Amino acid sequence: MESKVFDFIAREQARQDRNIELIASENFVSENVLRAVGSILTNKYSEGYPVERTSGSRGRYYGGCEVVNELEEYCCDQWRRVFKTDYHVNVQPHSGSQANMAAYLSVLKPGDRILSMSLSNGGHLTHGSPVNFSGKLFELHFYGVDANGFIDMADVRAKALEVRPNLILAGASAYSRIIDFAAFAEIAKEVGAYFMVDMAHIAGLIAAGDHPSPFGLADLITTTTHKTLRGARGGLIFCRPELAKKVDSAVFPGTQGGPLQHVIAGKAVAAEEALTEEYQEYIHQVVKNCRAMCEEFLRMGYKVVTGGTDNHLFLLDITDTGLTGKAVQDELDLHGITLNKNTVPGETRSPQLTSGVRIGTAAMTTKGYREAEFIAVARKIDAVIKEMQAKK
Ligand SMILES: *Cc1c(COP(=O)(O)O)cnc(C)c1O
Repeated sequence: MESKVFDFIAREQARQDRNIELIASENFVSENVLRAVGSILTNKYSEGYPVERTSGSRGRYYGGCEVVNELEEYCCDQWRRVFKTDYHVNVQPHSGSQANMAAYLSVLKPGDRILSMSLSNGGHLTHGSPVNFSGKLFELHFYGVDANGFIDMADVRAKALEVRPNLILAGASAYSRIIDFAAFAEIAKEVGAYFMVDMAHIAGLIAAGDHPSPFGLADLITTTTHKTLRGARGGLIFCRPELAKKVDSAVFPGTQGGPLQHVIAGKAVAAEEALTEEYQEYIHQVVKNCRAMCEEFLRMGYKVVTGGTDNHLFLLDITDTGLTGKAVQDELDLHGITLNKNTVPGETRSPQLTSGVRIGTAAMTTKGYREAEFIAVARKIDAVIKEMQAKK
């Protein structure tokens, strides 16, 4: 039978081939990841866990799981190798948001207090936005960034002492600098809070040694697998071995039903790839490209939040141009450049408009871009912005 769906896929493929992709959370997966995710593994029900890795749980709730049991164990082992850790890992979360939900519920009760980075300063929706389950289920308190856009560790400590949170969360969706996990861990210890890291954006950098690792410092670590890790869309939760049972039951039966074994297969392929020399080189290049592009914007007189970048993304503060992030995003779309509007620290406009744009280099580095190409794209963006200003 013919399906209309393949027309959509072909058109989306053409769009992805044609456009310059600068959305910091996106990437292009390998053929092997696609093969795994598109496989017959989608047919299998496997609620529960492979028996061997569950301390006392009842294993799977369905028969016929002998192959997927091995697959899931293999996936877990590969991810532990990627992050050189003996933490427990749960590879079943359907997404980063699901991973965060289960991670919170593994150690918190509704109404407990979480201290996290505010959304307007670079945090994620699942870090306590009032429109998200996190903000509805828990009592959220936020730390912010200083006048230069850096995480204000003095503010983190002051808020922690004041609020006495049950859990302190580090990690962000729009933060371009190294996060000092050791300093966070110390504060969490001081106030007796669990310490959780959401490394969704920077996980690839951590895997390649381009960002300090939270392993050994955090009690819980969540990530997506589809951003800098360049794998199948999904989530992972790592935890100290003593929290394994709590985390596993928070994922299933706590917040999910049957795991997506085809996606777990895609995650396993991504882990194998992340262990290669080639991937490490790729991540080093992502960081070099980001620095080169960011420096070109600074050279052209643009304002960058924190004045630079240490990772795969940076935030252009376009307040001075008189243009909104939304207008620039829309105009760049017409020029085949895809990025997203983003709030900047001390934002004066609504989240629908914003005064900034977020730029990331992970996706186009996968397509082979190096410093020269990213500098050329920076100049093209500058030309579009100048044109928009001239028309105003
Ligand atoms: C992307 C992201 C998530 C959520 O991932 P989804 O798979 O989109 O649910 C969670 N936390 C952070 C910090 C992120 O950047």
